[in-house]
Amino acid sequence: MDGTNNSEDISVLNAGAETIRVKVLFPLPLFKPYDYLAPASLVRPGAFVVAPFGPREIKGVIWPGETGDTDPEKLKSIVSFCDAPPLAQAVIEFVDWTANYTMSPLGSVLRMVMRSGDFADAPSMLTGYEVTGDTAPRMTPQRQAVLDSAGDGVETAANLAKLAGVSDGVVRGLAKTGALRAVDIDPDPPFLAPDLERQGRDLSDEQNFAVDHLVTAIDAGTHSTTLIDGVTGSGKTEVYLEAAAAALRRDPTAQIVILIPEIALTLPFLQRVEERFGAPPAPWHSELTAAQRRRTWRRVGEGQARLVVGARSALFLPFQNLKLIIVDEEHDNAYKQEDGVIYHARDLAVVRGAKGGFPVVLASATPSLETVVNVDEGRYGAVGLASRVAGAQMPDIELIDMRENPAPVGRWLSPTLVDAVNANLSANEQSLLFLNRRGYAPLTLCRRCGHKMTAPGSDTMLVEHRFENRLVCHHTGFSMPKPTACPACHAVDSLTPCGPGVERVAEEAREIWPDAAVTVLSSDTASSPTAMRAVLDAMRDGEIDILIATQVAAKGHHFPNLTLVGVVDADLGLAGGDLRAAERTYQLLSQVAGRAGRAGKPGRAMLQTYQPQAPVLNALADGDRNAFLAVEAEGRHGLGFPPYGRLAAIVLRSKDETALMKAANDLAQSAPNGDGVEVLGPARAPIYRLRGHARMRFLVKARRDVSLQAYLSDWLQRVKTPSAVRCVVDINPYTFL
Ligand code: ADP
Repeated sequence: MDGTNNSEDISVLNAGAETIRVKVLFPLPLFKPYDYLAPASLVRPGAFVVAPFGPREIKGVIWPGETGDTDPEKLKSIVSFCDAPPLAQAVIEFVDWTANYTMSPLGSVLRMVMRSGDFADAPSMLTGYEVTGDTAPRMTPQRQAVLDSAGDGVETAANLAKLAGVSDGVVRGLAKTGALRAVDIDPDPPFLAPDLERQGRDLSDEQNFAVDHLVTAIDAGTHSTTLIDGVTGSGKTEVYLEAAAAALRRDPTAQIVILIPEIALTLPFLQRVEERFGAPPAPWHSELTAAQRRRTWRRVGEGQARLVVGARSALFLPFQNLKLIIVDEEHDNAYKQEDGVIYHARDLAVVRGAKGGFPVVLASATPSLETVVNVDEGRYGAVGLASRVAGAQMPDIELIDMRENPAPVGRWLSPTLVDAVNANLSANEQSLLFLNRRGYAPLTLCRRCGHKMTAPGSDTMLVEHRFENRLVCHHTGFSMPKPTACPACHAVDSLTPCGPGVERVAEEAREIWPDAAVTVLSSDTASSPTAMRAVLDAMRDGEIDILIATQVAAKGHHFPNLTLVGVVDADLGLAGGDLRAAERTYQLLSQVAGRAGRAGKPGRAMLQTYQPQAPVLNALADGDRNAFLAVEAEGRHGLGFPPYGRLAAIVLRSKDETALMKAANDLAQSAPNGDGVEVLGPARAPIYRLRGHARMRFLVKARRDVSLQAYLSDWLQRVKTPSAVRCVVDINPYTFL
């Protein structure tokens, strides 16, 4: 991150100019900005600068705030200013707020905005070539091919050579003759402007009503949050795209961002947005190359990219004039970032809207209890879409009691589900068998000594992946070839797979239906977006009879001929035991059931369960979301859990178990008495050992009117945790492992 040639060198520009003190924040794990000197005429809050820090010169941002009174002689000077426009005030406030709320170093939050920092300088121009119209003295077929390929456009030498099927030298030779002219090409071309005159679909009355509701919120020009609460397939996406169009039309410099859970952020979604606006949106997700990322970052920072579609981290892009955030599938846990700065993007989106004074739209068929309570208590508005578009019916959901209808020994599909798939095959309709478990078997056990295969240094089970003949840990990423003998008792061929994963259900399906087209889809079988898309396209086009899939198929997809969804193990998510287990099960199973019958043909979903009395499954079968939410709300209210109270987790981890136990005890001893605060723990984490670290947890519960952050910082300041022990605070935790 050294200064680059593109930055303006202050010593040259401002020799003798008045210098003032400024604060500079660096994208490093630092809790505060540092004072520097800079020429008064160049200083803008939010400006990207290069300044000396320790032995290096690195990029940072001029941060607002009171400077100290250190002797100016002792202060260092800013070295240069970068090309990128300064961060908007709302972005700065958002970074400050996020650091306070998540109790993270301010610089770590800035790092999410600045990324590597390399984007703050314009990259060098590329050289392109265009046809001048002059004829070359010596024309050859190769030269002609280059001129033909160039046409009216501009291309790099490498691209032109490739198009014409010749070497780069031919292109350069032509340029020397004057038949081609070298021109600069911006490596980060601007994004096409969205076409705001373009007509969207003809909307139903219900959809139009919802659009009007959102447009009223947008026209108010102030912050508000509105939930689009619509069943799966009710046309929520169409509705919020209209709202997006309205926000872009209202202000010619407005920018908007649509957040999507990463897993649903597939090419078809981007294409759908492109179709609506006649221009591709600026994308932001983990599959982008560094150059694509830089283009989006820079163009967003200049205010040129007006329509962004991205995963949760798009919230931290350096928008100049953000005017609307749409959070699709707002209930999705993928919005919770668990590493580094721990945050929930839905909650932060609402804060970002408040800082920027603009509306936020949340969309879901199964909104989170948090959001439902915010609607009930009047903090958020809501607009409902009760029916599916074009007359499609909601799927019928029925429970299969596995105690009365068991699968044959060593198999996982009950006779009732097998019959239903048979009927679907005869009717030439597609089926989806859903099991949210990757691999072949979740547990590998020695039949002789009972040894369970776990990852080294971790209490996590190794999952057999038969396709690759490996055992894989889904928590740590560790993998090894499947051993032929038990590592504990050395018995040969004694390691036995226990329980099903998608690969095992696929094996069973291929045995039962040898003539059907059976395909498995999980993040392992489709490791790249292209591979995933190929399967999803094949499913959409009816080339697959039975798709066996994890949650990668649960979200957002539209398969017109899919009429049966079989959930292999509806009890799976309930076992987790964390506070949102039932809610997550409800959301996931209604999402996946909602894939059936979206295009007019009636659909049904069958849920295999050993707990047919579980309230969450009954609520699903009865289609009674409100009854489910009422039970959930009551349970959490009684316990003072979110959204009725505040919760934070403190996780201590160390390779040194003695130091860990001592630190946990010291922390427990020094917990201050706080009115309305309850400290639970320390307790061993459910996964006690992970990657060689032992882990202890505290849960801190507080009344809603208590500042949990103030309590925690007071507490954590009282004890000095030794350097061998790491302490992580997770405000409003979603993971309890
Ligand atoms: P949701 O986001 O609520 O699941 P979508 O917006 O994806 O629903 O809509 C479901 C399907 O119906 C999509 O294929 C979409 O293109 C189509 N659709 C939505 N609204 C309309 C409409 N007014 N007329 C025709 N088709 C529509």
